[in-house]
Amino acid sequence: TDKNLEKLRNDDNIDKSVFDNENIKLENATLLVLCRNWELKDILSSMRSLEDRFNKNYHYPWTFLNDVPFDEEFIMWTTEMASGKTEYGLIPKEDWNTPSFIDQEKYEKSIEKAIKDDIIYGFSKSYRNMCHFNSGYFFRQELTLKYDYYFRVEPGVEYFCDFQMDPFRLLRESGKKYTFVVSLYEYPETIPTLWDTVEDFLNEHPSYLHPNSAIEFLTSKAPIGTNALDLGNSSYNLCHFWSNFEIGDLNFFRSKEYLDYFEYLSKSGGFYYERWGDAPVHSIGAVLLLDKDEILHFEDIGYNHVPFFTYPEGRQVTKYKRCVVPKDKDNINVKLGSCLPRWWKFGSGKKFLKEYYHE
Ligand code: GDP
Ligand code: MN
Repeated sequence: TDKNLEKLRNDDNIDKSVFDNENIKLENATLLVLCRNWELKDILSSMRSLEDRFNKNYHYPWTFLNDVPFDEEFIMWTTEMASGKTEYGLIPKEDWNTPSFIDQEKYEKSIEKAIKDDIIYGFSKSYRNMCHFNSGYFFRQELTLKYDYYFRVEPGVEYFCDFQMDPFRLLRESGKKYTFVVSLYEYPETIPTLWDTVEDFLNEHPSYLHPNSAIEFLTSKAPIGTNALDLGNSSYNLCHFWSNFEIGDLNFFRSKEYLDYFEYLSKSGGFYYERWGDAPVHSIGAVLLLDKDEILHFEDIGYNHVPFFTYPEGRQVTKYKRCVVPKDKDNINVKLGSCLPRWWKFGSGKKFLKEYYHE
């Protein structure tokens, strides 16, 4: 009845989007895409999925970034697919290209070695530029500076459940600054000196380690069956949040602490002489610099980025959020190789499920 509806409308705990669009207050947030012109088809399918499951009820703006100008086709089709406004940014060369302090000869040698060792994306210079950009520059582009929150969207991903909420609002209201859905072990060959560099950084800035950090999520012994033990002296267990899905607070990345951290890592050259990914860099930064309660695992978002699937399994949530997951796709959450059970133990927000924790 109208009266009930009125009551619900006035209840601050209810997500108004389930009734109508009038009362929605948008957050200062954007759906953020870094991609290449030739990825048009795959970004359209990601956009369609996110629009249908979430954004068509909200119309958050989309922001597209590229190291070369987007072409007309790309702009036309993505504008059509978006329910909110779209903006297209060209990344300045100095934010994208390999920094001049990188020793070219050493860099070429490291690429040759990475190819010989069959390291994933080891051959690619653009992949290294991308990881460096995503680690230190996406949050301070002309188009992103005006926002407080971002939702990273990659080409070719899929969302399986209705959101039934505004995740940006959830972040602001609960004080979350970094959120994830999948957590995995990094390939050790890509980051031989990352952790040593992080330790050097922390020794220079001991006060940067948050007193309520989830550092144990990153540091104790790794499960048998992963490569983590091959790292030798390092005490990093390779756990990281899979950064192709992220919803986060841009102001965290713009903080002095994170910027100092990024600068320190960047100056060491490891993004180029090795092949550091933005996933371990974001994850280690967030885990060390933030209160563990500022990091959230979204357990009710269904998501796929090749090759992993994650989704809620409860019948009620599956029904209510209309989750439809392709057949026979295992949930990565509690598989060997997932760090999520470790997050449940050392992070926040979920009690430890002993049966899933392999150590
Ligand atoms: P993967 O997820 O690690 O396999 O790597 P992707 O190929 O998906 O790259 C990660 C993100 O960076 C995706 O959003 C890509 O579209 C984007 N990306 C990767 N390389 C480039 C590049 O050279 N230029 C641009 N503009 N985007 C890139
Ligand atoms: Mn990807």
